[in-house]
Amino acid sequence: MKKIDEILNGVSCMAIAGHVRPDGDCIGSCLGLYQYLRDNRPEIQADVYLEDPRPEFSYLPGFSEVKTSCEEKEYDLVVLLDVSSEERIGVAAPLLAKAGKTICIDHHVTNTEYCEINHVEPDASSACEVLFGLLEEEKISEPCAEALYTGIVTDSGVFQYSSTSPHTMRVAAALMEKGVPFTRIIEDAFFKKTYVQNQIMGRTIMESIMLLDQRCIVGYVRKKDMDFYGVTPKDMDGIVNQLQNTRGVEVAIFLYEIGVQEYKVSMRSNGKVDVARVASYFGGGGHVKAAGCTMQGSVFDVVNSLTLDIERQLQE
Ligand code: 5GP
Ligand code: MN
Repeated sequence: MKKIDEILNGVSCMAIAGHVRPDGDCIGSCLGLYQYLRDNRPEIQADVYLEDPRPEFSYLPGFSEVKTSCEEKEYDLVVLLDVSSEERIGVAAPLLAKAGKTICIDHHVTNTEYCEINHVEPDASSACEVLFGLLEEEKISEPCAEALYTGIVTDSGVFQYSSTSPHTMRVAAALMEKGVPFTRIIEDAFFKKTYVQNQIMGRTIMESIMLLDQRCIVGYVRKKDMDFYGVTPKDMDGIVNQLQNTRGVEVAIFLYEIGVQEYKVSMRSNGKVDVARVASYFGGGGHVKAAGCTMQGSVFDVVNSLTLDIERQLQE
């Protein structure tokens, strides 16, 4: 794909949008591009659509201007960031059909290439890393750099996951040169939790179970427990990673109830098991080491279904 500046020629109004339950990479890439436009292409009228963005990212530029519900508008261009498939487009889904042009900028192996232009780099740490490569470095301002740095840090687990490459570090270095307050960003975007977030994590770990010869750990949260602590899905971030931090565990599964007998599933793997394969089988997707899906049934049913393929892969 050409640099974004070339694609923007002739565009007078555009929408930028991310996926359902937007994470740091999704919010960071959307607001990073938004800021880049404000800095360099003020003649373009741009709107950002994100579903209910989390307050911990409120330091990002343009956060208060995010639209959380869709408007009946025809855009010359719609850019989807970090969105691997059409079903995962959040509030902005209705805009696609009416858009002059659609572009997807992503890093998921499971990307279904649903736009006219699909720029997918499956080896990149984050959508923010991919987006950085499409921007003119000298035109990136400090606020824009903060947004991109946020996405890289959150999606790479603070440069820990195997998707972190020397190139990721070079991009991060270039953003650091712009003066981003990296200590504060890492704290705010990744490590800091509210008291109830810590409580629900503690409880989930305490009640977790080990399966498949202690190589698989399962944690789950029921709706009634979520109500008791007053937590919502966005408070569950990081629980699956903490489960995965158990010595000897190959796969961590975390479920939380999103409806009657309906669970959101998050999986993490050390690499031996391809959890994207498991999630794809149940209509979800993601990466080899981090994937998710939504499943129906009781906790028992869901875990049983998931562990069938995990067990098979552990034996391969
Ligand atoms: P998480 O467990 O953090 O929610 O997601 C891990 C990875 O799996 C992310 O890259 C995310 O895009 C992907 N993922 C999670 N849930 C779903 C889902 O329901 N469908 C698809 N296609 N991907 C998902
Ligand atoms: Mn991402």
